[in-house]
Amino acid sequence: MVNSRTIAIDGPVASGKSTVGSLVASQLSWQFVDTGLMYRAVAWLLSKKAIKKTNLDKIKTILDKHQIETTCDNEKTTITIDGDIVNDYLSDPSVIKTVSEFSTIPYIRTYLVKKQRNLSEISSTVMAGRDIGTVVLPNASTKIFLQAGIKTRTTRKLSILEQNDEESQKSITNEISHRDKIDSNRKISPLKAASDSFVIHTDNMNLKQVVNTIIDLNSYNK
Ligand code: C5P
Repeated sequence: MVNSRTIAIDGPVASGKSTVGSLVASQLSWQFVDTGLMYRAVAWLLSKKAIKKTNLDKIKTILDKHQIETTCDNEKTTITIDGDIVNDYLSDPSVIKTVSEFSTIPYIRTYLVKKQRNLSEISSTVMAGRDIGTVVLPNASTKIFLQAGIKTRTTRKLSILEQNDEESQKSITNEISHRDKIDSNRKISPLKAASDSFVIHTDNMNLKQVVNTIIDLNSYNK
């Protein structure tokens, strides 16, 4: 599609990219591409096969052998591996533990970025991730970087998981900080706001306000 438009939404763990991205895409009737799920699917497959991050030959063989496909509508992103939908496995502890480490590997990033760019050519797209505005879609029509403090992000995650005890709180805060640290410090495509992005601090905003802000920014950018 020649006239496809794109909104890039980046941000740290649990900054609301997927929820906000899906609502924005729905409102615009654009497709929603959640690139985090693509990295999670790769991490799930590689951990299931007990492949180590250091074994690049094995990683290449596995990615060659298996068919990882992404399909998107205007609410969600669905990942299949060899024809089976794997979304239900993508929050498994094995994924949470390994995804940021696998995401530092240039081969995996190149493999997924190619798929992400191909998807963005199908139709107008809202794409969420860590490097969308900086690397994947540097010419995106609107670039958003969602920011929120660790306390807000922990609370949001706990409420999605319907947990509220002190132990869960600690473990979620640790998981968020751990992944953010690796994602922000890796050499290739680190998590950062593109210089031409709109940074939205969402701590004191509700979902509707964030979604409307993005829709407004996108309409000014037409
Ligand atoms: O967004 P989500 O939390 O599902 O992403 C899971 C992990 O995938 C991130 O912590 C990050 O390591 C990786 N990721 C990435 N680049 C993206 C999207 C996700 O490195 N564009």
